[in-house]
Amino acid sequence: MNRQWHDLRNPGLVPVVADAEEAERYQLDAWRNLPREQVPPWDDYAEVEDVAGVLAGVPPIVAPYEVDHLRELLAEVCEGRAFLMQGGDCAETFIDNTEHHVLANMRTLLQMAVVLTYGASLPVVKVGRVAGQYSKPRSAALDSLGLPVYRGDMFNSLEATEEARVCDPQRMIRAYANSAATMNMLRAYLRGGLADLMAVHDWNKDFVRTSPAGERYEAIGREIDRAVRFMAACGVEDENLHTAEVFASHEMLAIEYDRALTRIFNGKAYALSGHMLWNGERTRQIGGAHIDFLSRVANPVGCKIGPGATPEGVVEMCQKLNPDNIPGKLVIITRMGHKNVRTVLPPIVEKVQAAGCKVVWQCDPMHGNTYESASGYKTRAFDQVVDEVLGFFEVHRQTGTHPGGIHIELTGEDVTECVGGAQEIRDDQLSDRYETACDPRLNTQQSLELAFLVAEMLRH
Ligand code: PEP
Ligand code: MN
Repeated sequence: MNRQWHDLRNPGLVPVVADAEEAERYQLDAWRNLPREQVPPWDDYAEVEDVAGVLAGVPPIVAPYEVDHLRELLAEVCEGRAFLMQGGDCAETFIDNTEHHVLANMRTLLQMAVVLTYGASLPVVKVGRVAGQYSKPRSAALDSLGLPVYRGDMFNSLEATEEARVCDPQRMIRAYANSAATMNMLRAYLRGGLADLMAVHDWNKDFVRTSPAGERYEAIGREIDRAVRFMAACGVEDENLHTAEVFASHEMLAIEYDRALTRIFNGKAYALSGHMLWNGERTRQIGGAHIDFLSRVANPVGCKIGPGATPEGVVEMCQKLNPDNIPGKLVIITRMGHKNVRTVLPPIVEKVQAAGCKVVWQCDPMHGNTYESASGYKTRAFDQVVDEVLGFFEVHRQTGTHPGGIHIELTGEDVTECVGGAQEIRDDQLSDRYETACDPRLNTQQSLELAFLVAEMLRH
């Protein structure tokens, strides 16, 4: 896969802010006249527009050639020649956007990717829920305390007071600043040793050694070790062994934010707030604002679909979000719940196949398996997460389609948010380290266990 560069020596090829005529040509504001779910309750829309004006003038978070490159890599996933590993926090927060937290998450993502690369014998495209994952769709307007619900740091604060929950448009500027800082650090560290295969492999060896289920993973761990040493003995030396490309993604919920960071480049509109943007389950109305905006940009886009999705509806969605049927442009992220995946997913996959739509199929085994534990915490059971991934692989084996990837909420810290796994986290232990701002994440150990289990599934 040759890397494509845009010729930035040509000043005509610098991304630019759309003028009124271009905004019209690319229909970048058509969403404004469409029904929109999950509208942030801002008091003063004039202030939102001021903030959007500021964001229209800042340097974007990512570059168009990177966005194109990700789309090309996802085309490989679409054709069954690569695998997609996407993961990170449910919600990034300003306070947790520290070097420690971001690097811990990144390490976990890279560790999982190495295990999956081996398991699938395929290149793994790595995408973080990072550098922009600051907006959350919510099921209710009020939380359990009766306060306006937390909607992500892009809009309001998690702090449990009325004042803190007021939506403040200025927060979009902080979200931009945090995203830019994170992307800057990641670019530097990924080139500076963080992604070195030997280092990542050593962390995985530590995991196998210390995990209560280590024995189970020893066989694959040993095989990877031999493969790595074999490559070293052969004198294999390549940049790819020392660096990795990780792309940034977030949910496209705060349309004003993503619209303000959109630029025109080479005859296309790019949302340069992140490489890949996805649409959530709660905002997938085909005639709605979110889907419309995502249909106008050149980025790879994801669309979550839950158990209520119909085969016809998903085909319509594919045609709307990817009218030119470009491979790598559209990722359908299925989040059915472990009980539904084996029944709901097959007719959807069959219909999309029959319609000839080019899609990457990705499994989010988190969002269909959330429940409230007896101790009152929102949680997920590790076994159910694994079962949904297993079901996803079974379905794609039956339909002859490529199980393209997984989408996980994870953190590189030792939190106790999901029950189960080899550490056997129990319901009454959730309070020990329950730190998420929104949904429960797999901790480091649980994430790696999942990667080893998926690697096993991929080998069989
Ligand atoms: C999420 O990914 O955090 C999310 C809200 O997912 P979904 O839209 O699938 O519920
Ligand atoms: Mn979530």
